[in-house]
Amino acid sequence: MCLVKLLVATTNRSKIGEIVPLLHSLDLEIVTLADIPPIVSPEETATTFWENARIKAFAYAAASGLMTVAEDSGIEIAALDGAPGVHSARFLGIDVPYPQRFREIGRRLDADTNATRDARFVVAISVVRHGELLFETEAAVDGTVASEPCGDGGFGYDPLFFYPPLGMTLAACTPLEKAAISHRGRAFRDLARWLAGASRA
Ligand code: IMP
Repeated sequence: MCLVKLLVATTNRSKIGEIVPLLHSLDLEIVTLADIPPIVSPEETATTFWENARIKAFAYAAASGLMTVAEDSGIEIAALDGAPGVHSARFLGIDVPYPQRFREIGRRLDADTNATRDARFVVAISVVRHGELLFETEAAVDGTVASEPCGDGGFGYDPLFFYPPLGMTLAACTPLEKAAISHRGRAFRDLARWLAGASRA
């Protein structure tokens, strides 16, 4: 049987670890950038998640010849005018450790006594094959900036992101709990539904 091959266009192991289980029930062969010959990363020049997701999906689909899903994601903090936003991976510098980023975010929020601590994770995903945009969606999860980082799970800003309905940060959740409520969980479940429908059509 010839399975459809889907390139999940990331090398971020944490993202792969979250995305693959969300798609694994589908009749697909999933490969990541780590499984194919190296492709030069496109510049993420846009100011929105959906535009950056499209840039990546078109570039990796063209270079690989595969149906490709790309995502762009980040944390938006309301009192910081949505920063770090699309710059989340490079906030303060590409190699700056997360604990230093957390301290700087805390310092900026504490500097303004009126600042709310509202935050959201956002993800946009795009699917492209043969130069055609087949599917895209965006999803978010709302929470707050924790007073202190907490938890050993997850990745990136998870220790700083408090999710009130569970009463803990995303880094303190189990992977299943995070997948159930996260921006990525929501978006990739949408994609899984679309892929399931497309394969029946
Ligand atoms: P991208 O590779 O440009 O999409 O960068 C996304 C960045 O946003 C990541 O490197 C993390 O810093 C942050 N981010 C996105 N999603 C999550 C998440 O689920 N948890 C924690 N941090 C995240």
